[in-house]
Amino acid sequence: MSWKKIGIMGGTFNPIHIGHLLLAQWAMEEAKLDGVIFMPTGNSYLKDKTEMLSGSDRLAMTRLAVQDRECFVCSDMEVKRGGNTYTYETLESLRHIYPNAQLYFIVGADCLFSIEKWYFPDKIFKHCILLAASRGGAPAIELEEKRRELAKHYGANILLITFPGMEISSTDIRRRCREGKSIQYLVPDCVREYITAKHFYENL
Ligand code: ATP
Ligand code: MG
Repeated sequence: MSWKKIGIMGGTFNPIHIGHLLLAQWAMEEAKLDGVIFMPTGNSYLKDKTEMLSGSDRLAMTRLAVQDRECFVCSDMEVKRGGNTYTYETLESLRHIYPNAQLYFIVGADCLFSIEKWYFPDKIFKHCILLAASRGGAPAIELEEKRRELAKHYGANILLITFPGMEISSTDIRRRCREGKSIQYLVPDCVREYITAKHFYENL
């Protein structure tokens, strides 16, 4: 892969939805990235397990969602690694695979307030520029303060972008499936068809 500026969009993607895809697109344009690697998590130790589909199911949906876009690819690295997913490990591996690329880890800006609880935040900041998109939640001034604090404490390189807040969430999509409501327009059609065919999220 000849990409020099690589975005990494991590998530449980349970399921992937247009909020994720639009954020990746937006980040790509804002930071002039060559492309984005979608990285479904293995085991998310911070997430509720009750409605969690297997890694291979979430991977399959993510693959479908990006299949028609050359600058979007999907990686099975975290799902394959098994066990709990730690972002620092993923970034270390990617650094190894793409030694000459600049990595941009794309997150919702709310993550700035929890990232210090992740495993080895210093290693995360060492290997990537954090591309943090605010979705209208935290006021800009608080984000800017947090950005400065993390820069001072960890030498973090954080790029704040504003993303026209989309309140779509996977939680909502799972609820709609449970209630027998349509998820058309919320996820790509191919993903919706897959969810329907596999009866995902119906009786949880
Ligand atoms: P859940 O409802 O299960 O928590 P989610 O919709 O929040 O799922 P995640 O897989 O937890 O999706 O999110 C992965 C990444 O995408 C995170 O960095 C999160 O901040 C971001 N993200 C999630 N939903 C949106 C959205 N609607 N717009 C922009 N970013 C989003
Ligand atoms: Mg979430």
